[in-house]
Amino acid sequence: MTTSPVMREMEKEYGGLFKGALGRMRAKRKNPPQEPRPPAFITFSGGAQDLVDALEAQLGASLLTGVRVTEVLADGDGFRVVCEDHADLPADAVILAAPGNQTSKMLAHAAPQAAERIAQIDHQNIGTATLVFKPGDITLPYPINGLMIPRREKRHIDAITWTSNKPLERAPQGYEMLRVFFGGADPSMATLPEERSSA
Ligand SMILES: Cc1cc2nc3c(=O)[nH]c(=O)nc-3n(C[C@H](O)[C@H](O)[C@H](O)COP(=O)(O)OP(=O)(O)OC[C@H]3O[C@@H](n4cnc5c(N)ncnc54)[C@H](O)[C@@H]3O)c2cc1C
Repeated sequence: MTTSPVMREMEKEYGGLFKGALGRMRAKRKNPPQEPRPPAFITFSGGAQDLVDALEAQLGASLLTGVRVTEVLADGDGFRVVCEDHADLPADAVILAAPGNQTSKMLAHAAPQAAERIAQIDHQNIGTATLVFKPGDITLPYPINGLMIPRREKRHIDAITWTSNKPLERAPQGYEMLRVFFGGADPSMATLPEERSSA
């Protein structure tokens, strides 16, 4: 059997390959590598809107934003995209990337079978509340990035992200910013009137 220099080194150091693998794993846990890890979250500095703005600036009038599509109809060899408060748009091909509950309505006449299947995709209303605390008003015994609450706990909220702990410059320097997610475990939370949801 051939052994690599690394294997021979492990045998010499720990007295066996298995013991060596375990030993190295323990040593790694005790002394984790010091290089900074890449951030878990990345985005545009101004949020996802930056991408839309850049596309708008480059594509100009050929990009239409803020227009609601109500239906996509088959029209000769192509399609007709029916819009709310805008003239219909002729198209050779259409790519739909709206949520399924919208897409199924758009396709109701052009592709009823597909529309029916897409309508079966489960959708949920999710809400977020952003809380900002002045420096020193909130402290934690240890740093966290957030928490997720299992649905079986039947709480009113689903998760919290400690936005100011993410390296995205989302909060002013020194301020603590938390984003609270709700609507998953308790769907009624997403439809509460404003005055109840802030209570
Ligand atoms: C509260 C929340 C927080 C999240 N946080 C994160 C996060 O931190 N990181 C992460 O990676 N992901 C996050 N996600 C998930 C992420 O937002 C989605 O995965 C992503 O946005 C899906 O992109 P999409 O283009 O498929 O759909 P969407 O972003 O939903 O885009 C669909 C688009 O279709 C448009 N549309 C809908 N109906 C019509 C119509 N009739 N006519 C014309 N246009 C229409 C909408 O206006 C929208 O612009 C989060 C999601 C939520 C709800």
